[in-house]
Amino acid sequence: SPEALAALRSDLDGRVALVEEPARVRKRSRDFFWYSPVLNAQLNGLSGDLVAEPASEAEVMAVASSCARHGVPLTVRGGGTGNYGQAVPLQGGVVLDVSGLDRIAWQRDGAVRTGPGLRMNRLDALLAAGGEELRMHPSTKRTATIGGFVAGGSGGIGSVNYGQLRERGNIRAARVVTLEAEPRVLELTGDAVNGIAHAYGTTGIVTELEMPLAPVHPWIDVIVAFDDFLTAAECGLAVGRDGAVTKKLITPIAWPLPQWFTPLKAHCPAGRAILIAMISEATLPAFRAQVARAGGTITLETPLDESPGHTPLYEYSWNHTTLQVLKTDRSWTYLQSLHPADRLMESVAEMAALFPDEIVPHLELIEFAGRLTYAGIPLLKFTDADRLNHIIAAHEARGVFIANPHVYTLEDGTRHKRAETDQLGFKRLTDPLGLMNPGKMRSFTPAAPQA
Ligand code: FAD
Repeated sequence: SPEALAALRSDLDGRVALVEEPARVRKRSRDFFWYSPVLNAQLNGLSGDLVAEPASEAEVMAVASSCARHGVPLTVRGGGTGNYGQAVPLQGGVVLDVSGLDRIAWQRDGAVRTGPGLRMNRLDALLAAGGEELRMHPSTKRTATIGGFVAGGSGGIGSVNYGQLRERGNIRAARVVTLEAEPRVLELTGDAVNGIAHAYGTTGIVTELEMPLAPVHPWIDVIVAFDDFLTAAECGLAVGRDGAVTKKLITPIAWPLPQWFTPLKAHCPAGRAILIAMISEATLPAFRAQVARAGGTITLETPLDESPGHTPLYEYSWNHTTLQVLKTDRSWTYLQSLHPADRLMESVAEMAALFPDEIVPHLELIEFAGRLTYAGIPLLKFTDADRLNHIIAAHEARGVFIANPHVYTLEDGTRHKRAETDQLGFKRLTDPLGLMNPGKMRSFTPAAPQA
């Protein structure tokens, strides 16, 4: 209500930086939900009432306390690059932009302790001095924050070695501020970090993270062309299984998707599938041998360059593959799939043939529950929601799991269509009033007020 917002403003005036100009608030209430025509129709136009920009954990607590006392919803925001409207406030209120919490506390014992607002490219650049880097990052590394990745992401470049973000050990610890009149600070370690991982910011405000690290290698960006997509996928899997090759990314992509990769035109021959990979310089000979065995042609080999003005190849992988297509043709959208590891190539071939006019395959090799498998982010020609749901059901009927990117609630985007029980229970501790982006975790109902 206007009264509650006025009370909040007077609490925070002079204590926390606030942005009130409607156009700026609207801009920072959006993310990349427009990739989905379904979400675009549902979320376009939603906005917070103001943005708070805390510079410290104490300021985060001041905002949390004020929201709890006046019943104002709060939506946490990092880089705002999420795809399912995770950072879109469904019921207005405060957008809490945590990008000011960007300090590294320490780097030791193969881990880093950092503020959640640090952008991952900056974080990796700082870690490299110690010979280390994040185990994995999303393809949005250059704009997304580490806190947004933990709270909203699933995996990415590096997942071929370490699995998805939520696999055990990929997040070591998190410090969380609760949304209460007198906010508490909780330290989560071990499996307790599942309370905040991929919870879309509904279970407390993360103010510090401890992330395990991997050794830095001089990575080489590679493109290989193949006569057909399945051979590219077979070769990718062989490279994945080859202990002689140190890799960070393995991405088979079917034609015609490379036709939209305009700056890479010279390296993407017409009509051919490609494999994008990141390989350590020292193991390139072993990689080249695998490519030769599969009959592929290397069309590009260049050191990874993440400096401004350059586009690393990972910005053609993961959900950037989708973006490269959407830049010129908005009639496409996408799916997120996971093929069964026990009959992997059979499943990949089956799905590549099933909807030839509507789906173009794009795969990402990942480790999943201790085995290599392909996740898919295929491009999908959109007609309507019914057809979309039919195609999703056809995948699931064939044992291909779909994480539906066309829904905005936590539950509907997961396999089980319900909130993980540990997160639902954890939310009762961290957000008893249900003020953290209400509606996002739809199975949560606030406890009745105490008499
Ligand atoms: P935001 O969008 O700002 O927030 C994401 C969620 O986290 C929101 O629910 C927000 O409320 C919550 N949140 C943010 N900070 C905190 C905090 N401190 N405490 C509590 N909650 C918080 N994702 C992948 O996993 N892998 C990919 O490869 C990938 N590729 C992408 C490619 C493109 C082109 C696009 C547009 C998106 C892609 N994404 C990918 C999705 C997204 O970019 C990543 O998940 C990214 O890490 C999100 O970080 P962010 O800082 O932008 O988070």
